[in-house]
Amino acid sequence: MLRKGVALYFLLALFLASLGVWITLDQLESRDDLLAEHKQAALQTSKIIAQSFSAFFLSANYVLSDVIDSIEKDDLAYPSDDPNSTKRLNAFLKRKADTVPALSGIALYNKDCILTARSVGEGLGFKLNESICDRLRAARGDQPHVEIVSGERAPTGRPGILLMRNLPFADNVFNGGLTAGIGLAFLQNWLESFPMAGNDSLAIVDTTRILIARVPPLPEAVGKRSADTALQQAFASGVPSFTVTAASPRDGLERIFGMTKTEGFPFYVVVGIDKAAALRDWQHRRIQVWIGYGLLLVLFAMLVRSHRIAVGQRELLARLATTDELTSISNRRHFVDVGRREIDRCTRYARRMSLLYIDIDYFKRINDTWGHPAGDIVLKELAREITGILRRQDTVARIGGEEFAVILPETEAKTAFAVAESLRLAIEQSKTRVNEQTEIKYTLSIGVATLTGEDDSLDAMMQRADAALYQAKQSGRNQVVAS
Ligand code: GH3
Ligand code: MG
Ligand code: MG
Repeated sequence: MLRKGVALYFLLALFLASLGVWITLDQLESRDDLLAEHKQAALQTSKIIAQSFSAFFLSANYVLSDVIDSIEKDDLAYPSDDPNSTKRLNAFLKRKADTVPALSGIALYNKDCILTARSVGEGLGFKLNESICDRLRAARGDQPHVEIVSGERAPTGRPGILLMRNLPFADNVFNGGLTAGIGLAFLQNWLESFPMAGNDSLAIVDTTRILIARVPPLPEAVGKRSADTALQQAFASGVPSFTVTAASPRDGLERIFGMTKTEGFPFYVVVGIDKAAALRDWQHRRIQVWIGYGLLLVLFAMLVRSHRIAVGQRELLARLATTDELTSISNRRHFVDVGRREIDRCTRYARRMSLLYIDIDYFKRINDTWGHPAGDIVLKELAREITGILRRQDTVARIGGEEFAVILPETEAKTAFAVAESLRLAIEQSKTRVNEQTEIKYTLSIGVATLTGEDDSLDAMMQRADAALYQAKQSGRNQVVAS
């Protein structure tokens, strides 16, 4: 019964453990899937935004190409001989600048880097400083040189991104150039038109990690470089798009970043998805599942506990039914059960067995002299001593007040007599402490009966043992008599 229960528990425990492992693995997998999905979403969003972001630069560059094609060589003298031509040129640049809303203005510099015409028409004659002039000179070809200018350095006084292009070189000599500005405020406004949920973020940075615009807005960081070295490496390597999960260098929140480089221009669009928010539902589900699992464990523990209590009670009942309360050895009922079974077995297989019938001599005197509790101690001690002397397979029982009986399987008469004699002798020679001051001595009378061909029942054998005991008493006690 117990074995069966244990095997069942083992199976259940194994099932629960496997379930636990499965839940853990499944959760890790679903978490990975979820993160991968969000990475993909961040990447996709950054790609789309990068495309429309580069559209600004492409259209600005297209306008510049258009202007370059239309500029006449004599437009470049400053101051111009013809003030009307300067006015015309300013108006032309303004018309062109107005075609692209992102453009804050277009400026035309001559071969000496002197501002010759401008869409806003002011500050003409201003000479670019040498280093910017050098860069303007170097900006040859269709691809503009792109530069971020701070408010102080910008002709408009507002920070922005400057696109620079050359006019066609005459005889391989710099012949002047154009700059077109895109205001950071415009880009910030544009970026804010993309709604970002919760702590998700959207940013445009250049390849040297200078912040151009950001949602949610972070005006104090615009124009500054972030300290993130991991991004630095990725940006510097010019990877077109990638994802990374990291703490944001701007606000420390862990985000799933998707980044895409704007094609042909040195910017990255960075979409950051708040990782905690992305995993929130998953976390809730995880907690729910573990609570469920915990309840299952509690149920299992309760099941084990109640089963153990039931088994314990059954065992206790079984023990109470077969045990003598005072001495904890077998009681009369158990003795009779074992005796009958043993006689059956011996009769069937022609085996030997013997019975001892033991009675304490003058027990009444012990009770009378030292009290009933002292008598009880003697009974318990005697039970312990008999059990100690006999073999494991022998059944020792208390079958009456101070009467004990023993079943000796596989034991012939001579051996049984010797066993009885050694018991008698051991008790004769021993003392029993019944209280702190008193040790008493007492003796046993023992009747022995061995199974014969005529015995067909336990009762018959018990009668013979009892008769032998009676004879021992009659012959003066403290002796063994075999029937
Ligand atoms: P004998 O040598 O003839 O056997 O003399 P005896 O005094 O032992 O006589 P008997 O066997 O008739 O006495 C049994 C006594 O055992 C009577 C009873 O008071 C006592 N007795 C029976 N059960 C218990 C018990 O559980 N505890 C104690 N202390 N005494 C018991
Ligand atoms: Mg008696
Ligand atoms: Mg007696």
